[in-house]
Amino acid sequence: MAALRVVLLGLPGAGKGTQARRLAEHYGIVHISTGEMLRDPAGAAASVGPQARASIDAGELLADQVVIDLVAERLARDDVIQRGFVLDGFPRTLAQADALAELLAPDGLDVAVQLEVPLELVLDRLAGRRSASGAASRRDDAEAVVVRRLARHEDEVGRVAGWFAERGMLVAVDGAGQVEAVTERIRLAVDAARRERAEAAD
Ligand code: AMP
Repeated sequence: MAALRVVLLGLPGAGKGTQARRLAEHYGIVHISTGEMLRDPAGAAASVGPQARASIDAGELLADQVVIDLVAERLARDDVIQRGFVLDGFPRTLAQADALAELLAPDGLDVAVQLEVPLELVLDRLAGRRSASGAASRRDDAEAVVVRRLARHEDEVGRVAGWFAERGMLVAVDGAGQVEAVTERIRLAVDAARRERAEAAD
């Protein structure tokens, strides 16, 4: 069977990284996290300039071309070509989505999975709180910053999800609940998308 190619979309705190790692292990595919690549002192972090590093530290998006080049280089390596991948943190803009489509032509992507988690849950996770702590209703300054960032991320994810939806590649999965249960839901969505593609290709 052809290499599996998946994009995982979701807000920070939606469990994207955790689920991407679990999917990579389950399917034997490569987990590609642009955030991790950019933070790796021995990897991309060494090659991006001080301006890019400042943007990463400030939590701002890097210029499209910087990240596109990084992903293009990674997608061209043998392990990814042979085994396939789950992309985590890319694409974040429509220009990146267009670039990804070009990089993957003619085979394309199997599916883009959007992990949907209620905003309240994401906020709790980001604030490092447990709902059992009884502090779920607290609204402090730190939380205001988190809320602003989340609103920006929501716009980002919404636009990119729309791009995939317009092309019939998007599946939304409920990201709330046990880690294992969420992985199972994603696996079902991925397997179904893969079957559909295989049938369409016959
Ligand atoms: P993440 O861990 O995915 O939140 O990424 C950490 C930081 O890396 C982001 O705040 C951005 O500065 C940068 N970054 C990661 N992925 C991208 C991307 N696809 N486009 C632009 N910047 C990115």
